[in-house]
Order: sequence, then C-alpha cells, then structure tokens
Amino acid sequence: MTRQVKVVILGAGTAGMTALKEAQRYTDDVLLINAGPYGTTCARVGCMPSKALLEVAHAYGRRDWLAASGIRGTNTLEADLESVMAHVRKLRDGFVAGPIGTAEALGERSIHGQPRFLDATTLEVNGERIKAEAVIIATGTRPNLPEAWRSFGDRVVTSDEVFELESPGRRVGVVGLGPIGVELGQAFAQLGCEVHAFTRGESVAGLSDPDVNQSLIDVLDGQMSVTTGVEVRLHEGHDGVVMQGGGQEVEVDWVLASLGRRPNVEGLGLENLGVALDKRGVPAFDAATLRIGELPVFIAGDVDGLRPLMHEAADAGRIAAYHALHPNAECLARRTPQGIVFTEPGAGYAGLIGAKLPSSGVVTGSVDFTRQGRAVTAGRNAGRLTLYADERDGRLLGAEMVAPDAEHLLHLLAWSIQQQLNVDQLLEMPFYHPTVEEGLRSALQGVRRELGKRRTQPDLPLCHEPANAALC
Ligand SMILES: Cc1cc2nc3c(=O)[nH]c(=O)nc-3n(C[C@H](O)[C@H](O)[C@H](O)COP(=O)(O)OP(=O)(O)OC[C@H]3O[C@@H](n4cnc5c(N)ncnc54)[C@H](O)[C@@H]3O)c2cc1C
Repeated sequence: MTRQVKVVILGAGTAGMTALKEAQRYTDDVLLINAGPYGTTCARVGCMPSKALLEVAHAYGRRDWLAASGIRGTNTLEADLESVMAHVRKLRDGFVAGPIGTAEALGERSIHGQPRFLDATTLEVNGERIKAEAVIIATGTRPNLPEAWRSFGDRVVTSDEVFELESPGRRVGVVGLGPIGVELGQAFAQLGCEVHAFTRGESVAGLSDPDVNQSLIDVLDGQMSVTTGVEVRLHEGHDGVVMQGGGQEVEVDWVLASLGRRPNVEGLGLENLGVALDKRGVPAFDAATLRIGELPVFIAGDVDGLRPLMHEAADAGRIAAYHALHPNAECLARRTPQGIVFTEPGAGYAGLIGAKLPSSGVVTGSVDFTRQGRAVTAGRNAGRLTLYADERDGRLLGAEMVAPDAEHLLHLLAWSIQQQLNVDQLLEMPFYHPTVEEGLRSALQGVRRELGKRRTQPDLPLCHEPANAALC
C-alpha cells in the first residue's frame, strides 16, 4: 500500500518540528517520521539539561566569593551530586514534554521507524511505502565515540549519556574542549569534582582569537587541570580509567568524551537520490534554499553541518519547509551568526570570528574584564572582548569574547552587526553606569582609536538628523 503525502519530514528534532509548524501554515498534509527518541536533542540531552546543570554549578561556584565578601556559613554548603543530577533530569522532563506532545498529537501523521529513500519521492518505513511531493531530511547528529572506547561501558560517556548518571564519581576526565566539553567540564569542576581536561588543539570553546582563547583557559585552569595540544589515550585503571597524554597520567572515575558529532545519515538510502555524497555521506545542497540539487528534497538542521546550533536548526527547518511548498519563492537570508558558551564568564562570538576575517582592512578594539568596574563589584572580573571592524567605515564585522553576561553582550553585538551599525553609531547609544556594557564601550573606543578618527563633537546624536528628532 502506498500513502500519498505533500510533505514528509524525517526527524522530530528542532529542525523537523519547526519545519512541521512552518508547513502546517499552508497544509495539513504533512507526515513526520522519526527513528530515535522524541523530545529533540536540545531539550533531551543538549542545550537545556546542560544549562540546568551549569546554573546550579555557577551558583555553588560563588561560595568562595561569598565567603570572601563577608557571608558566613558557606563552608557548610555541599553539592549532593545525586540530587543535582535528579534536579537536572526533572527540569529536562518538563522541557521534552512539549515536543513529545506535539508529535503525539499528530496521530497517524506521525510514524516511529527508520525511513529509507527508494528514490527522491518514494520512501519506505515499517514496510509501508510513502509517495511524497517533497521531503525534508532533519535527522540531526550524534556524538563521536572511538570504537575502542566503547569497551569502557558507562565509564566513558558522551553528552547523550551524561545526564543519566545517577551518582557521578568525583574524579572526572574530559576529552575535547569544544563548547560542550568546556561547559560540562566547568560544571562538574564548580560542583567540587576533580576535573582533568585534555584537548587536541590549542583552542577551547571554539574560540579563535588567541588572547580571548587564553583568557578562558586561564579561568578554567583555576578550576580544573587543562592540557591543550595533546592526544589522549585511555586504558583500564585500578579503580577507574587512566588518561594518558602530554607526559601526564591520571586516573579518573569516568570520562566525558566530547569529540564532535557526526550526521545521522546511515540507513536513509541517500545513495538512491542519484546525487553525489560528501565524505560524511551528506548530499550537496544549496546553502540558501537547503535544496538538494534539482530534487524536491531538502536538508535542514545539524545534519547539514552548516550551523549546528538550536536557533539555526529552527531557521533551517523554516527555510526548508517554506521552499518545499514554494519552489519558486525568493530565498530567505540567514541571520547574523552567533554562538554562546554558557561558562562563567560566558564565551562566544557574533558575526565573523577572528579566524574568518579578511586578511587586511580590519581594525580591532579590546577590553580586559579583569579590571572592568561592574565585573569587579560582582567578583566576576575575568575575560576579554575583541571587536573587529571594517577599516573603511568602522562598520562592525564581528566579535569574540569571554565576559560576564556574554550571552547578552553577544546579542547586542549580533543585532548591531545585522543592522550594519558602525562604531560611531554604537558609541552614540546610551551606556548605563555601572554595567558590563561599559566594557563594550571601551572596546568600541579602542576600535575608533585604531581607525585614527578624531571626533569633532561629543559622542551624542545630532539634533538635525531625522532619526534623533524625538531625542531633542
Ligand atoms: C550537550 C549539548 C549542548 C548544546 N547546547 C546548545 C546551546 O546551548 N545552544 C544551542 O543553540 N545549541 C546547543 N546545542 C546544539 C543543539 O542541541 C542542536 O543544534 C539542535 O538540537 C539540532 O537540532 P536538529 O533538529 O538538527 O537535530 P535533533 O534535535 O538531533 O533532531 C534529529 C531527530 O532526528 C531523529 N533521527 C535520527 N536519525 C533518524 C533517521 N534515520 N530517520 C528519522 N529520524 C531520525 C532523531 O531521533 C531526532 O529526533 C547543544 C548540543 C548538545 C549535544
């Protein structure tokens, strides 16, 4: 028997569920097929449980500063890891309920099973044939784990398993210091665990500016042992796992392997689409429309490898569904990129990162948060922010930072970059005192110094400019 459907979506994650909502604006004839667990990676094992854990860790991590600031009794505080993990899972269960409920409410328009393309418009799942006018592949990614490390069982876990640990041991190893390794490593360190982190490259948290990167390493180094530029080997220890690398050998109770992620494309029958696949097994696609060649097949979310973040997966789902149902529509632009790592201080980028800047024509300005007034009052004075601007007109191109409240500063910067604002326009904005935004102002002033521009008036808007009429 063959079912005829207008749009079939493969994967009930963020991209798939957003594609579903977008498609439902135009038609009810949508079918969702999901092979793995429901609830989305973000809510189930990603953004949300990691942030729940980090919030507790950051709060507990404040106890030394509280004690130094005159608050007595902090030495009696204790991190009960079993209860902390149960708290994280309780919040997680609340977050996954929404997407699970949405999928369940689809009734027969939701299938649990492993779909396979027979050709570009025909799929097979659970023995049923589906004929689709358009298909959206939104099957996400899964963590990399070297085959040899699987023999360690639950002593070597990935982000897929870590939140299920009921009572994690207090000697923790971390391999890989990208955003996930850095966040979870710091969380367990702040909760009082002995954390030993190793990473292959010199960069942590995906940062590319050497000074900004070093400022995060300095913070982490005070909380855990951090070794960069080494390849780690694991072997069975007396009472745990032995990590070996960079001339060090240390035994831990368990290891978090955060070694990047790979696309979920196996078994989808993509070879039957008749298009070339790259070395990850992903078909070539148009980065604007997310369409695969001339086929009525689209690819959205982490599986496409373009922008593996939650809000980007959601946008990709919207774009794919929109183009699937409006094949001749004008393409939609992507928003200014930003990435946020929820360490304390936070880290991340907005716009172009240092490594992707043109080799000339760029000026920079920086601020060191170790001496920034508001950060000092809060005992959160660590990190560094660097801005990149176009030498011709002072237009902001990008930023990298490690800073208190980085998540908010990065939004301000991403919004400014998307609005194509230049340094003068930004310095005309209000800055309250005392705030960390004053640190951003220092960096903007640094850019202007680099530009060699001398202002002939104070940094205030001119009355005669129409946009400022209401301010005069
Ligand atoms: C620990 C961690 C922390 C993170 N923190 C953040 C953060 O703070 N902010 C942020 O923006 N991003 C964060 N992310 C990234 C974010 O979770 C992802 O970008 C987002 O979940 C990607 O959504 P997706 O729809 O592409 O994939 P997913 O949500 O993974 O959805 C894919 C779906 O496809 C299903 N599937 C798999 N194979 C098949 C198949 N063959 N057929 C059918 N269905 C299949 C899966 O079961 C799943 O339901 C984090 C990720 C992790 C792991």
